[in-house]
Amino acid sequence: MQRFATGTDAALELRPDQPLYCFRPDVLKQDARQFMKLFPGETAYAVKTNGEPMVLKALVDAGVKIFDVASPGEFAAVRAASKTAEMLYMHPVKAQSDIRLALEKYGIRVMSLDHEDEIAKVLRIVRALDLDPASITIFVRLQTKGHAMYELSKKFGAAPGHAVELVQRLGRIGFKVGLCFHVGSQVEEAESYELALKSADWVRNRAGVELVGLDVGGGFPAVYGHDPNRKAKPMPPLEELMGKLRENITEWAFDDMPLVAEPGRVVVARAFSLVVRVLLRKGRRLYINDGIWASLSDSWTGKITLPARFIPEPARRIRKGNPANIVPFRVCGATCDSVDILSRPFWLPETVDTGDWIEIGHIGAYSLSLRTRFNGFYPNDFVEVTTPFGEDGEAESFASLETMAD
Ligand SMILES: *Cc1c(COP(=O)(O)O)cnc(C)c1O
Repeated sequence: MQRFATGTDAALELRPDQPLYCFRPDVLKQDARQFMKLFPGETAYAVKTNGEPMVLKALVDAGVKIFDVASPGEFAAVRAASKTAEMLYMHPVKAQSDIRLALEKYGIRVMSLDHEDEIAKVLRIVRALDLDPASITIFVRLQTKGHAMYELSKKFGAAPGHAVELVQRLGRIGFKVGLCFHVGSQVEEAESYELALKSADWVRNRAGVELVGLDVGGGFPAVYGHDPNRKAKPMPPLEELMGKLRENITEWAFDDMPLVAEPGRVVVARAFSLVVRVLLRKGRRLYINDGIWASLSDSWTGKITLPARFIPEPARRIRKGNPANIVPFRVCGATCDSVDILSRPFWLPETVDTGDWIEIGHIGAYSLSLRTRFNGFYPNDFVEVTTPFGEDGEAESFASLETMAD
């Protein structure tokens, strides 16, 4: 992979016409180590956030030994990055053939579930393979209520009373039992974890089964851009949120059992930026070579303020407007689909024009992993960059949360 000091250097040297991912392995390792240092338990990286081989490899180098996986594709990706990494199969609803593959081929011994029929499914395969249930740990996934940008409890999780029954049933069969939850992605307040710990405590007290661990899931917020047009309450810094979580863990007496976290976003968001090119400017519209079916899937970029940097094409001699004037542009994606228009504008110098580049920062999470081959476009070019985005000069532009009238 070619290396550059900054994304701007890469853009000016390579003049990419296709979207270009700038991978920052040192930033990734630093953020992974930071998380492991702050969290009082084991760290299992959530592979779905970004499962690129280069990411998994760098995480292994940084000392990550456990991975949260959900599918055969993820089992294989982790195994390719490390022969010895442990995998936690934390998808509560699994195909029978995938459970068999996990147990038989990959030696996975930790899973999660939230329903008795899933217990029956797992047990059938455990029996067929003649495994001892006591060699397998099953985490019962609890429903949670909290505030995160992306709710996840609507889909998975057993209500507390139901969770008690599941824990007891698993205990009777002879499985080792733990509790897990996921408060949602990009949590907006530390209280989300406290509420979940409180209900985990409630379940523990009523189940009367010795628990072997607590998995607090992911949700830890990543750093994104700042939108000067919006008075948003600032995200609590990770140190502060973790301090609060550690206090709550002690308060609810979970500090004497093995703990696991499954961070995704907070570990990998800063590790990538994306250099896109303006294929055409039409008034206040920019047609770029990426979009919602590639790296800028609107289901998540629509809620986050992404930092961005304008990289003017040096060959363009004549420009209209004042470069100090930052104005909103509607951004249209690369495909022919009429929904491929970002719901939020990008604020850029009004001089931006056809042929210019824009580097969008902090897109490592849920961006590469969500790209599709729709319309034949599939960004897959990478370079390595050594300087963290934002430390190579102010990112003067951003993708705003403000909506824009056409
Ligand atoms: C998606 C997911 C994660 C990672 O969540 P982040 O908010 O990216 O940290 C962790 N655990 C499970 C079970 C998940 O589904």
